[in-house]
Amino acid sequence: MAHSYHHAVSSARKWVGKPEDYQAIHDHIDGSKEIIADFRHRAPRHHAEGCGMAQRLFGQAISNSAGRLVPVRLIAEQHVIEDLGWIPSFADWVKCITPLAWMGRVAWRPDAPANITQAQERSNA
Ligand SMILES: [Zn+2]
Repeated sequence: MAHSYHHAVSSARKWVGKPEDYQAIHDHIDGSKEIIADFRHRAPRHHAEGCGMAQRLFGQAISNSAGRLVPVRLIAEQHVIEDLGWIPSFADWVKCITPLAWMGRVAWRPDAPANITQAQERSNA
């Protein structure tokens, strides 16, 4: 499934109501397309914690236009399963990141307070 509108149509089929009842949730999950346009956009929100994030943002449940309460987590999980076939954890995504040197670089700054203290302790010893 490619577009958040189609996820919303699918939600309306599953829980009745109208696609617009669900559109904001699916727009949020696919909002990472603004960062990168290919499938890698899914890494920030298409996982278990991303479903939890949707629940925190939209509440435990929405009331659709048919008057039914639908749990937001189930709507988010429907989206992720339609895109990926399962609900990975964020750790599953991280395992696919190839570590590069710049990702772990911590610049040593001689003027940082902790380093000044350590240098003074060494000179006093
Ligand atoms: Zn998606």
